[in-house]
Amino acid sequence: WRALTRPLPTPEGDGTLALLVLRDETDVRRMELMRVDFLANASHELKTPLASLTGFIETLKGHARDDPKARDRFLDIMAVQADRMSRLVSDLLSLSRIELNEHIPPAGRVDLSRAAIDVVDAVSVLSAERGVAIRFDTRDLSAPVHGDRDEIVQVVQNLVDNAIKYSAAGDTVDICIKPDVPLEEASAPWSGGAREGGMTRLPLVTPDREPGLRYAAVTVRDHGPGMARENLPRLTERFYRVEGQKSGERSGTGLGLAIVKHIVNRHRGGLTVESAPGQGSVFTAYFPVAQARAAQAEL
Ligand code: ADP
Repeated sequence: WRALTRPLPTPEGDGTLALLVLRDETDVRRMELMRVDFLANASHELKTPLASLTGFIETLKGHARDDPKARDRFLDIMAVQADRMSRLVSDLLSLSRIELNEHIPPAGRVDLSRAAIDVVDAVSVLSAERGVAIRFDTRDLSAPVHGDRDEIVQVVQNLVDNAIKYSAAGDTVDICIKPDVPLEEASAPWSGGAREGGMTRLPLVTPDREPGLRYAAVTVRDHGPGMARENLPRLTERFYRVEGQKSGERSGTGLGLAIVKHIVNRHRGGLTVESAPGQGSVFTAYFPVAQARAAQAEL
């Protein structure tokens, strides 16, 4: 709390009144602390690859200068670090752009299946390199939703990227579209984190409870390491990573699911996770269905 006192003249002008204003600044302070924390985390994440690049530049200027083998190896490592920095910067920019617009509802209409097909096409080289197969049996279902095309593609992309990243060679990632699911499926039954077949299912973003609103859902399922129940509520925090997980050379930025959360929020949609150690993970994003007639005109 902060108390502000102001002396005020009385209407008769024969003395002063004191006005005491008490302002609850808990939220303001919390936001300030979050911002400082975020900047500290972001700087730390950027400093690590930067320190590595500086170190290798020094080595290349020094004893590695005349050793072509070492030079090539160091240049490869530097390329990985530079790639990491550029992914971090682009995720940071995405996050701040989305946060800036979060209060403005998106205007367009998007076919969720079309967005998922575009993502599958875009990741086909990466998934083939990793030996991970992608199965998408519902690709022919039309699922028009209210939303921003690029942002919805980014949601599916981040979920599919994670599913591939945490899969082993030989695994399959499943994508499934449901064009019309009721609100209850998108939120209520497992709000306390119910267990279904050994997996814990938890809503990460709960959709608006607007009567009559229908949802289309995209589900991404992997057969990777899965996650313990206590890790699930923190997944959409910026820079949060589950400890002890291997994600290969292309390690993540820790921002992917934070970006997903903000986009889903802006779309007044929902997001759930279902997982258990050793049983893989299932992420589902829900978006409000676009009206059939209007959707056909614009799709
Ligand atoms: P990152 O870029 O590190 O993947 P995300 O925000 O996308 O960041 O995810 C946060 C953390 O959640 C990851 O670091 C990982 O520990 C865990 N995670 C996300 N998706 C999966 C998944 N499909 N399987 C296992 N763990 C996952």
